[in-house]
Amino acid sequence: LSEFDDIARLFRPLSFGAPEALGLMDDAAQIPSRPGFDLVVTKDALVEGVHFLSTDPPALVGKKLIRVNLSDLAAKGARPYGCFLAVAFPAAWDAAMREAFAEGLGEDLRRFGLALFGGDTVFTPGPFTASLTALGWVEAGRMVLRSGARPGDILMVSGGIGDGALGLKAALGEIDSPYLLGRYQAPEPRLDLAEVIKAQASASADVSDGLVADAGHIAEASGIGLELDLDAVPLSSEAQAWLDRQPDREAAMVGLATGGDDYQIVCTAPEGRAAALQAAGFTAIGRAVEGAGVGVRHRGRRLEIARGGWVHG
Ligand code: ADP
Ligand code: MG
Repeated sequence: LSEFDDIARLFRPLSFGAPEALGLMDDAAQIPSRPGFDLVVTKDALVEGVHFLSTDPPALVGKKLIRVNLSDLAAKGARPYGCFLAVAFPAAWDAAMREAFAEGLGEDLRRFGLALFGGDTVFTPGPFTASLTALGWVEAGRMVLRSGARPGDILMVSGGIGDGALGLKAALGEIDSPYLLGRYQAPEPRLDLAEVIKAQASASADVSDGLVADAGHIAEASGIGLELDLDAVPLSSEAQAWLDRQPDREAAMVGLATGGDDYQIVCTAPEGRAAALQAAGFTAIGRAVEGAGVGVRHRGRRLEIARGGWVHG
C-alpha cells in the first residue's frame, strides 16, 4: 500500500468534484479570487494522546479535526468553504482505521458544506497526527477580530462552559456521562452563530483554551480589561449536576471556566448590540473595562486565578 492508494481511495471522494481540487491529481489546488470577499484561513492539529485518546474511534477523530477548525471560522463570522488535510498515519492504523477516519471526515465535510481541496499523506513511526487548514469566506473587511472590544462592551458566551473539561473526565472513565463524552469526542462548532457574530460582535474568539484564557486573549488583543462573573456563566444540566456534587464549589467552578475544549464562542458587543446576540442564544457574563486582564468574580468575591487556562501541551 502506498500513500497514493490512500489518496485515491480515501481522500479523492471527499473533494466532491470541486474544481479547486483538480481531482487531487495535481501538485496544488487552485483557488480563484472572489471579489468583495476575504478568505479566512485557520489551522488546528490533533495529536494522538494529546488531543484525543488512543481508544477514541478513528471516525470521531476525523470529525473532531473538522469541528475544532470550523469553531474558529464560526468565531470569525466566516462561512465554510474548503480545507487542506495533512495526515501522518502510524503503522498501528491499519486500512480499516484509516478508512474509518476518512469516513468520519467525509460525513462532517458533507454536513458542514466544505470540500477537501488538497493535502499530504505520510506514514510515521510516532503517534497519529493530523492537521487541517480550513478556509472560509467573509465579506471584505468583516472578519471579527479579537482586537475590537472597547470599555463598556458586554462580554458574552454562546453556551455551556465546562463540558469539554468534564468530557475529558468522561473519556478517562472518571465520570459516567454519554453526553459529556460526546462533547469531548465530537464538539459542535457554533456555525449557527457566525452570521449574528459578524453583524453584532465587536470582538470574538472560540473557547478552546478555556473561557478565562480565551476571554484573556480578547482583553490582550483589544488593550482592555474584562470583568467576568462566574455566577452568570451558563452550564449544561450535566455540568450543573456535576458542580452540585463537588465539595468545593468555587474551585470546581474555576475548573470549568479554565478547562479547555468547549468550542463555544466568547465575544463582546456594545450595549446596543448585545440584545441581538442574546436573542440568538448568547448569555451576558461580564463587561469590558479600562485596564488589562480578566477579573473573575464568584458570589461577589474577587478570585485570583494564577493561570488563565489549560495550555495545550
Ligand atoms: P506532491 O508529492 O506533489 O506534494 P502528493 O503526491 O503528496 O503531491 O499529492 C498528490 C495530490 O493529492 C495533491 O493534490 C495533494 O494535495 C493531494 N493529497 C495528498 N494527500 C492528501 C490528503 N490527505 N487530503 C487531501 N488531499 C491530499
Ligand atoms: Mg506528498
